[in-house]
Amino acid sequence: MSYTDQVIASLKKNIESFKKEVQIEEVGTVIEIGDGIARMSGLEKCQAQEMLEFPGGTLGIALNLQEETVGAVILGSYTHIKEGDMVKRTGRIMSIPVSDALIGRVVNAIGEPIDGKSPISTKTFYPVERIAPGVMTREPVNRPMQTGIKAIDALIPIGRGQRELIIGDRQTGKTAIAIDTILNQKGQNMICVYVAVGQKESKVARIVSKLQEAGAMEYTIVVSAGASEPAPMSYLAPYSGVAIAEYFMDKGKDVLIIYDDLTKQAWAYREMSLLLRRPPGREAYPGDVFYLHSRLLERACNLNKEHGGGSITALPIIETQAGDISAYVPTNVISITDGQIFLETDLFYRGIRPALNVGLSVSRVGGSAQTKPMKKVAGSLKLGLAQFRELEGFAQFASDLDPETKKSIERGRRMTELLKQSQYSPESVEQQVVSIYAMSQGLYDAVDVSRVKEVERKFVEFMRASKPALLEKIQNGEWGEEIEKGLKEAISQFESK
Ligand code: ATP
Ligand code: MG
Repeated sequence: MSYTDQVIASLKKNIESFKKEVQIEEVGTVIEIGDGIARMSGLEKCQAQEMLEFPGGTLGIALNLQEETVGAVILGSYTHIKEGDMVKRTGRIMSIPVSDALIGRVVNAIGEPIDGKSPISTKTFYPVERIAPGVMTREPVNRPMQTGIKAIDALIPIGRGQRELIIGDRQTGKTAIAIDTILNQKGQNMICVYVAVGQKESKVARIVSKLQEAGAMEYTIVVSAGASEPAPMSYLAPYSGVAIAEYFMDKGKDVLIIYDDLTKQAWAYREMSLLLRRPPGREAYPGDVFYLHSRLLERACNLNKEHGGGSITALPIIETQAGDISAYVPTNVISITDGQIFLETDLFYRGIRPALNVGLSVSRVGGSAQTKPMKKVAGSLKLGLAQFRELEGFAQFASDLDPETKKSIERGRRMTELLKQSQYSPESVEQQVVSIYAMSQGLYDAVDVSRVKEVERKFVEFMRASKPALLEKIQNGEWGEEIEKGLKEAISQFESK
């Protein structure tokens, strides 16, 4: 074979083994942009939920994967993006940076600090969407998560790992319950994540300064997608929040997460879906709006010892219109959670705050997490209130009533009064127990309804000053004849003062 032939043969071989390897799949082109939504061509290999990089480092999430094009939402400002711009795939599913340094910070939906303090440096990323822990890794709810709100801890107890919905109309004290619960976690070995969805920045700032004042930012992280930010941020924020919660849970910690509120997340998702031209369904929400909330709330759980024993307790908030809990999104979230705390405008304006509707509120699993003393005293309270609700209608004819009924009504009035609690004043569990026990012993029967709270305060002060050992036992979950005897003595001592 001549030299020329050799060259030709070698060239032929090279040509035959040549593979077309043009990397068109990594980079695409924007073909349509507007309202925070971009449509792109040339991203054939793009995955669902993949992060995309637009000019200027702006991030987007690929949501609609179609044959020719990919639809994505843009996270943040999009005005600088134009048709024909280049889009890069990152190959990473949407994830956010997580680290211990997040504690005490305020971040946006993509984990960037927005409190003007130092940047948070970390190499650990957690995906915002993750499959919830399976049944084999979980155990039933069995430890209490004290809210510090007497009406809730006694009647609608919440356990660590539970999902309890806070639902009510505008301005009924939904956020107040969530914030008080965070305040009460001081010294409870709990990390709190407060996710503000579509709230005014000024409102969030007020909440943060309140938490700071109370020393609660020492164990709290705030994730905020402001009202002025584009809808995709509100859609993302709850998932980012739970990703942060999972980071701590994986380290064996107990975490409390609050979504304030999921109504606004559903609105944001509806807006995005309509812009992405997904078919609208009931109330114009896309068909998978149930899944939006179910896959989020499924991630709350109580892990067993073999899996670190961490937990995520979730308190989602839903805003209703005119108390209608049978609307689409409210019914969805009610069916996903383990119970609901139902707040009513009517009660709120009658001065019954927290404006808890005791009849419609339930906790399906928290009872098993209640401490023994609380379980004992709460029983009589529940019964008394239920009786009172039945008799309340007759109360206006009080003069014609038999003494027994009259007594129940009077007791009920005092119970209602006792359960009133002002904002930012969480009560410890032993304080709640002795106060409710005193009710069952008739301590407040002798005084006028308007003085019940005052007597309660004095009684608790008296207990603190003269019976610290008894309070400590109750705090440790002890209960029995001896303790009851001690309490009865204390009550009569207090009465004879
Ligand atoms: P929105 O629908 O605007 O989010 P919301 O349901 O979260 O409202 P909050 O903001 O918590 O309601 O409370 C509404 C108002 O009621 C606030 O001014 C708050 O200070 C007051 N408030 C809430 N709870 C109590 C309480 N237990 N005692 C006294 N005032 C309260
Ligand atoms: Mg609120």
